[in-house]
Amino acid sequence: MEISPLKNWPFKLGRPLIISGPCSAESEVQVLETARELKGREAAHIFRAGIWKPRTRPNSFEGVGEKGLPWLLRVKKEIGLPTCTEVANASHVELALKHEVDILWIGARTTTSPFAVQELASALKGVDIPVMVKNPISVDIALWIGALERFSGAGISKLMAVHRGFSTTLDSRFRNGPNWKIPIELKLRFPELPIICDPSHIAGKRELIKEICQRAMDLDFDGLMIESHLDPKSALSDKSQQVTPENLAQILHDLSYKTEFSPDKDFGLELETLREKIDHIDYELLENLKVRMEIVKIIGESKRKMKITALQKNRIEFLLKQRMEKAGELGLSDSFIRDIFGHIHAESLKSQTEIISRI
Ligand code: PEP
Ligand code: MN
Repeated sequence: MEISPLKNWPFKLGRPLIISGPCSAESEVQVLETARELKGREAAHIFRAGIWKPRTRPNSFEGVGEKGLPWLLRVKKEIGLPTCTEVANASHVELALKHEVDILWIGARTTTSPFAVQELASALKGVDIPVMVKNPISVDIALWIGALERFSGAGISKLMAVHRGFSTTLDSRFRNGPNWKIPIELKLRFPELPIICDPSHIAGKRELIKEICQRAMDLDFDGLMIESHLDPKSALSDKSQQVTPENLAQILHDLSYKTEFSPDKDFGLELETLREKIDHIDYELLENLKVRMEIVKIIGESKRKMKITALQKNRIEFLLKQRMEKAGELGLSDSFIRDIFGHIHAESLKSQTEIISRI
């Protein structure tokens, strides 16, 4: 992939690059006032606003559509912030270009579909415009790279990746699990590719935004895309995750910025990769525990039917003996494994007792 570094982009950008604006353009006043606030507080280099909104369910606000594009043009001309918006089909591309949108972004749902990505890439053939590609909603780095390659193949060299988290089946504090090892892998495979983090869609709630921004800065991301709204509670989309321009300025002020050439950068990345592995293993442990408890309950129901006691001393003795042998083979400490299985067994017994004694 031929990639133009950020310094060759035709805008005045800082590091970290900050993109902000509402999830959705809602009205001309909202768009212009938000942009003015952001500019006044020096809280954005680029203004974002969704014009066409991909909504998971129909009958939600699907964006103002074409009529919002002249609002973005006013932001650019009157306030002096370059603009960006999401495009999901060739007609969006045509309209966005007609209204001089500076940067296009490809949404997470679109990146998931190679047909849609190819349609967009073909519509952009011969056009020199920067394109930001959000990660696909599924944890699939190949789809993300594939989409970047399709734009590269269409002659787009000002490319950027946006990490916005992945749909997750795991119980998580986040709306979209960050799965940091995926953007880190992308960074390692394409060191020239600028990559920014979208903490808003990872977090799903504004309280978590700062923590995710800090993590992205610590991982040497090139920038942040953060949704902002003058009155987040009344936003027509993503109201729980938007922050006011004032909050945003405070968050940006409070972050601790690491320099690109910190001597510990490699160490930091390595540590992060290892911690990602540990996070993953812990989630697996938790998922396995959940399945184990479900089976325990099924056994509990059978014991109840057959009028068998919850506690069967032989079984626990046998189980512990077997687990301890295996632990010994694996080089795990006796007391550690005995403790863990002691807790697991106690919880299983408690759950079965509740089932068996139900009246
Ligand atoms: C957005 O940026 O408002 C958006 C819809 O993002 P994503 O494609 O990441 O869900
Ligand atoms: Mn949004």
